[in-house]
Amino acid sequence: MTEFQVNHKQFSESLLKWYRRKGRFLPWREEITPYRVWLAEIMLQQTTVITVKDYYARFLEAFPTITDLAQAEEEQVLTLWQGLGYYSRARNLHKCAIKVVNELNGIFPNTEKELLDLPGIGPYTAAAVAAIAFKEQATVVDGNVERIISRLYRIEEKLPKSRPEIKEKATELTSEIEPDHYAQAIMDLGATVCTPKKPNCEDCPVADFCQAKEKGDMLEFPKKEPKKPKPHKTGTLYIFEDAQGNLYKEKRADKGLLANLWQFPSTGWENDSLPDELEELLCDNEAVDIGTYSHVFTHFKLTLDVKHIKIAEIMPWEFADKPIPTLMKKAYLLLEK
Ligand code: SF4
Repeated sequence: MTEFQVNHKQFSESLLKWYRRKGRFLPWREEITPYRVWLAEIMLQQTTVITVKDYYARFLEAFPTITDLAQAEEEQVLTLWQGLGYYSRARNLHKCAIKVVNELNGIFPNTEKELLDLPGIGPYTAAAVAAIAFKEQATVVDGNVERIISRLYRIEEKLPKSRPEIKEKATELTSEIEPDHYAQAIMDLGATVCTPKKPNCEDCPVADFCQAKEKGDMLEFPKKEPKKPKPHKTGTLYIFEDAQGNLYKEKRADKGLLANLWQFPSTGWENDSLPDELEELLCDNEAVDIGTYSHVFTHFKLTLDVKHIKIAEIMPWEFADKPIPTLMKKAYLLLEK
C-alpha cells in the first residue's frame, strides 16, 4: 500500500478552481436533472463523448421524460440505440425507466446505495448520478480516475488488483464541498489533461500533488496485468435478396448476445447450419462471395465471409425499421460496394 499522503482540502480546491475555468461544456450539463445525468452516464460507458452527443440529443427528443422512455416499446429504444453497441445497456436503460416509473412514482432515488438497486446501474453510474444530480459526496471511479489516482500515488500494484487501493485513495480525496462539481472535475481532468498517452502535466491543476510527475514516470502508470488475447471465431453470413430487393432478416433470441436485434442468418460461430428453408434456397441459387469483415466483441473477435444469394421469388422480408447491430451494418456495406 502506498504511504504517500495528499492534502485533500488543497487538492480539491485546486481541482475545483480549475474546473470553474476549464470544465468541459457538455449538453448533459446544460440542465442537470437525475434523468438527464443518468441517461448520459449510461450512454458514456464504453463510448466517447463525441459519439454520445448525437445519441443523447435524439433520445431526449424522443423521450423528454423518464415516463416517455418507460412507455416506449423496447424495439423503439433499441432502434434509437443502434450503433452505440453493448445493447444490454439499452435494454437495462428501458427496464430501469419502467421500474422508476412503476415502482417509484417516476422519481429517481437520491442516494448512491439506492441507485445501485436499479437495473443497469453499477458502482460508477450510481456514484456519478448521486454526486452530480443529488450532490452526495459519492466517489466516482472510472478508467480516467484510475489513471489519475495511480499516477498521483505511483501505485505499484497492477490493475485490476489495485482497484481497492485506488477506490480508497479516491474516496479520501473526494470533496465534501461541491461534490457534484468535484465528480465532473475529476472526470474532465482525466479526459483532457491526465490522458493515457500524453498527460499535460505542465497545465495540470494537481501537479503539485503528483508523485509520478515528480519522478517523471507518468506513462508507467497505471500498471496493468497484460491482456489475454481474445479468442477468434469465424463463420459465414448469408444475405438473401429477392426479386424486389427485399433482404431476409431474422430476429435474435431475447437473451444473450445482441438479444432481440435483427440479423442476416449466419453459420459457423453460433449455429452449424441454416434453417431448412434457407438451406434449400442456398442449394437452388448461386451464392456469390462479396467479401469478408471482422467485428470485435468484448470477449471475442469474429470474422465473417459474406455470401449474397439472389432468388427469383418475391418474399415479404425487408424489415426496414428494425434495430440491427453494427455487426450487420458492416455486411450491408459490403453489399452496397
Ligand atoms: Fe496526471 Fe501529470 Fe497531473 Fe500527475 S501531474 S495527475 S500525471 S497530468
